[in-house]
Amino acid sequence: MFEDLKWLIELQKIDNQIYQLTSEERNTESMITRMKHEIEELTLNRVKLIRKQREHLEDKETYSTDILDHKRILDQKQIDLDNDKKTKKEHIKREVKKLEKAVEVFEERVAELTTEIKRQEDEIHNIDKNVIKIEKKIKSEDKSKKGMSKDSAKALEKLIKKKEKVEKSIRTPFLNHYNRIMRIRNGIAITFVTEEGLCNGCKIHIPYQLQQKVKLKDDYNICEGCGRILVDVDMLKK
Ligand SMILES: [Zn+2]
Repeated sequence: MFEDLKWLIELQKIDNQIYQLTSEERNTESMITRMKHEIEELTLNRVKLIRKQREHLEDKETYSTDILDHKRILDQKQIDLDNDKKTKKEHIKREVKKLEKAVEVFEERVAELTTEIKRQEDEIHNIDKNVIKIEKKIKSEDKSKKGMSKDSAKALEKLIKKKEKVEKSIRTPFLNHYNRIMRIRNGIAITFVTEEGLCNGCKIHIPYQLQQKVKLKDDYNICEGCGRILVDVDMLKK
């Protein structure tokens, strides 16, 4: 059997093990990144809420001042009503009604703003609670990641040493081809011909003659569709 091919299959097996060993770490890493992103979004939302809340507080203050002013004028009108001549009274009464209506509208608006400010406060509080929760989760994931990597680091080191040794047994052009396909084909450089005569990597049909060549197990055969190295399925089972 073609010597380089034997070692390439060995290399693929080691690479698969390395991939599996590091996959948990990769998953944890991407989960942490996701959570950090979530915190960023929540913080941004919080800033917006506080800005809006400040606007509402200012509005509320303006309306409250207006109410006080109107009430002062109303008090004065009441005094006028008591003192002025009868002819003027109708006019004053109309003014009083107008002022009272305005006070009513302002008070409604103040009530609305108070509710809205309270709602924003609750929302901000919820955001803060959520951020704390996520930060805790990040910390614990970070911790478990470190614990995990201690064990896997040893195993990984061993695998890498083994990989280096295997790589030395493969002639450079073959190794280069393998590495290139690994990069562009999601970490699978060696594949087989299915019972239906398809490349198991890209599912194109492999010509009969090439299928026969693969079965002989003594040559370097490449799939025309994906560039992967084609070997007999038995060779991958060992
Ligand atoms: Zn293919």
